[in-house]
Amino acid sequence: MTGAPQQAELLVTNGLVVTVDAERRILTDGAIAVGGGRILAVGPNAEVASAWQAPETIDARDHLVLPGLVDSHTHLTQGQRGMVPDEVGAMEFLMRWSLPMFVALSPEEEHLFARLICAEHLKTGTTTVAEGGSVKHLDAVVAAIEEVGLRANLGRLTWDNPMLWEQMNPRLAAAKMDTDEALSAAADAVDRWSGALDGKISMWVHMVGGGSATPQLQRDAKAFADQRGIGVSQHEASDEGYAQRIFKMSGRRPVELLAELGVLGPNQRLVHANSLSEDEVRLIVESETKIVSAPTGAWKLALGMAATGKVPELLDAGALVCLASDSCNSSNTSDMVRIMQIAAGVWRDIRQDPSAVTVTEAIEMATLNGAKSLLMEDEIGSIEVGKKADLALFDTRRLEWAPMIDPLANLVFSATGQSVDTVLVDGRVVLRDGEILGIDEEALIAELAAIDWAERIDHWTGLRRPPSPWPLV
Ligand SMILES: [Zn+2]
Repeated sequence: MTGAPQQAELLVTNGLVVTVDAERRILTDGAIAVGGGRILAVGPNAEVASAWQAPETIDARDHLVLPGLVDSHTHLTQGQRGMVPDEVGAMEFLMRWSLPMFVALSPEEEHLFARLICAEHLKTGTTTVAEGGSVKHLDAVVAAIEEVGLRANLGRLTWDNPMLWEQMNPRLAAAKMDTDEALSAAADAVDRWSGALDGKISMWVHMVGGGSATPQLQRDAKAFADQRGIGVSQHEASDEGYAQRIFKMSGRRPVELLAELGVLGPNQRLVHANSLSEDEVRLIVESETKIVSAPTGAWKLALGMAATGKVPELLDAGALVCLASDSCNSSNTSDMVRIMQIAAGVWRDIRQDPSAVTVTEAIEMATLNGAKSLLMEDEIGSIEVGKKADLALFDTRRLEWAPMIDPLANLVFSATGQSVDTVLVDGRVVLRDGEILGIDEEALIAELAAIDWAERIDHWTGLRRPPSPWPLV
């Protein structure tokens, strides 16, 4: 390399760089030059170090450098971890606990819980989250995202068919919307927040889904998303019981019904999809509809993912499958490294096939596939020149990483997100030496500890957690 070095803002040097680029290169001694929020160069350390200079260098020796993880579906305001009793099933979780709580949260509470969930994501290597549309007070949640420093895809809580749910829990009546109101709430949010925080916020139509939208809203939402060049995301086919209810009402399984409505497509994301027929797999593949799998939520709520889900078959057929934590009450963790492990493990076991989901597929699902599911693969999801500099650095000087015979297997099967010590979003260091720079973590934990939880839970839901099965002495 000849000539004067070019100027970057920051260099990451000496790292084991897992690029997830088109060739899936792993640079055993790699470096990344960062400037203007983007990756300016990535390559062998000696090459990048001689061609680029910068006022700041992060020495990534003994670190695995990964594209920032993408949590493709979470609920940022479900920070009341443990509110829902552990043995509650999906319908009770949704109708009696979760949805009434969403409807009742104040802006201050949404801000507090979003800070917790964003912070947990950042500390475990996730740089982009897709919110499930559960937010009422978007400005409070955007403020939390800004403070912690994440990238996020958001939307307004959207539904127009809450009649059945009102009968099941009158507390949901306060969130009733007709089709026009639902669509205009979603559109207003898109207009107001798209591109906020220097482009770190993208806005979609996030519907509650699961039968909560009329055919009209399904069609209108998809048409609106098509017109704006964005996408629609919704919970669908979460379990076989739900699929059967839809079949009873319509004579179609959930994905068949969406196909009939003409709303499948590359900008439609179905979250959960834990119960699919072979015909529904075909419809998903043909339409290039994206699937968001949330294994920790599925197994805690006993959704039967391993019994009736089709992730290996979807992957084999070329469908896009990405991974999600789904929230702190259905899954109780936001650690996408743990979720990669479960995604790689559960399908091997149930199919009795060690290649059912490979280690590299698990990593792709938590990085590049997440980006693709949000139509953001030109911006994030891999470490390539021109993409946003969203990076997670894992400290491999830890017992669970030793020895480094197979770093990718260590990442998926041995590590957790706890070994992340440095995170960049948009080229800016937001986690350094394990410390979040944007918020006071200890103060946040103290604020959560000071809450009278029984009083708050009663206020939101009218319910009381059952007593501990073991005596509190
Ligand atoms: Zn969800």
